[in-house]
Amino acid sequence: MQFQSYWHDTAHPFADATQGPVEGHYDVAIIGAGFTGLAAARQLAKAGVKVVLLEAERVGWGASGRNGGHLNNGLAHSFLSAKSALGAERAIALYRAFDESIDTIETIVAEEGIDCNFRRAGKLKLASKPQHFDAIARNFEAVHREVDPETALLSADDLKSEVGSPFHGAMLSKKSAMMHMGRYVAGLAAAAVRYGAVIFEQAAVTAHRQGNGRHSLETGRGTITADHVLVATGAYTPSLFGYFRRRIISVGSFLLATRPLSDAEVAATMPGNRTCVTSMNIGNYFRLSPDNRLIFGGRARFSATSDQQSDAKSGDILRAGLAEIFPQLAGVEINYCWGGLVDMTKDRYPRAGYVDGVWYAMGYSGHGAQLSTHLGMIMADAIMGKVDRNPVKGLEWPAVPGHFGKPWFLPVVGLYYKTLDRFM
Ligand SMILES: Cc1cc2nc3c(=O)[nH]c(=O)nc-3n(C[C@H](O)[C@H](O)[C@H](O)COP(=O)(O)OP(=O)(O)OC[C@H]3O[C@@H](n4cnc5c(N)ncnc54)[C@H](O)[C@@H]3O)c2cc1C
Repeated sequence: MQFQSYWHDTAHPFADATQGPVEGHYDVAIIGAGFTGLAAARQLAKAGVKVVLLEAERVGWGASGRNGGHLNNGLAHSFLSAKSALGAERAIALYRAFDESIDTIETIVAEEGIDCNFRRAGKLKLASKPQHFDAIARNFEAVHREVDPETALLSADDLKSEVGSPFHGAMLSKKSAMMHMGRYVAGLAAAAVRYGAVIFEQAAVTAHRQGNGRHSLETGRGTITADHVLVATGAYTPSLFGYFRRRIISVGSFLLATRPLSDAEVAATMPGNRTCVTSMNIGNYFRLSPDNRLIFGGRARFSATSDQQSDAKSGDILRAGLAEIFPQLAGVEINYCWGGLVDMTKDRYPRAGYVDGVWYAMGYSGHGAQLSTHLGMIMADAIMGKVDRNPVKGLEWPAVPGHFGKPWFLPVVGLYYKTLDRFM
């Protein structure tokens, strides 16, 4: 078994990073080469802006190259709870932003000729318990009526042709998609460079200074200056950006990929070939890879770290979860086990804007593979002074009390959700 992301292992890595010293003056400097930073870099470079992107590791090293591969439309929350938390207008705007995000990715993939298996697969939100189906049905009614007619409510019987496991019904969101995340992130970076963006890998920003309307960003390979800075570091945000560290809670999420399944195994487990998410608080998400592996993920054990040891421990929990949902695959060979950090906010809504002299977009809370591309482009437009389309503009973002970077409270949160899952 390999302890690395299936997406990393099966994509050609980005090969056009600029070599040599990190130096020069730019209109815009972006920190972080995930979807947010790369989409912003492409958008800015395309408009003729002189842009540099500084990445601590390599393109797609963070969440963008480690996720579950789902491009799900709609909100991670129920639409009803979003309406009561944000008001109807903002909840609808945010729902539409997720829809548009998938359109945006589809357009980029076509425009740039990125070979990343993008497919409008549809997403199933699966009811793990009978009472969860009642909640899903209530939410479906509001979604279908108010914001997304391309949805359907499926009974347990309807699901037999979709998933080889006895769930209690589901909501189907037809606009949702899937793609190969490693090929997309490398393709996005290559496109940004073709338009003129400069990308430095292995160039962690270690200091940030501001003065006389200019920013200076220091790395181990040199220093650049810029008129604007976009912080696109998500769950990996360094402590030098204390404002964000007090608001982003970095939580591990973990994945397994089985060996390629035979046609008979696919027919017995995932005949619908859609993205699937279960309704438990500590639930699971799964899909088939382009070569028919089951990619099975979950938060597993609310760990704040993702390294080989932590990923392996979570992998054991996931393997048990996989066998519970698909007993027909118990004991199947697992070829990949990996994890990554999710940039949670306290209310699990993303944030984007301008604070303390820097632009930012982050806090996707595990539902950002689509929105990060879209918000990256929206922030690039905002930097260029174009029409502001930010769907979370002005959303309050108080610091998490007692949180300064290391989420010491995660075990308590994990226990709380485990208890909820046992009784509700
Ligand atoms: C395991 C896992 C599964 C997920 N599954 C899904 C899913 O199926 N669907 C979905 O919608 N979302 C999913 N997500 C969330 C989604 O992947 C993220 O929301 C999205 O990729 C965020 O992109 P980003 O560009 O903002 O951040 P990232 O991709 O994390 O990029 C941030 C980058 O900043 C760099 N960086 C940090 N500090 C510095 C520094 N000092 N200097 C320079 N660079 C720095 C990091 O190295 C990193 O490459 C998942 C996330 C994880 C971790």
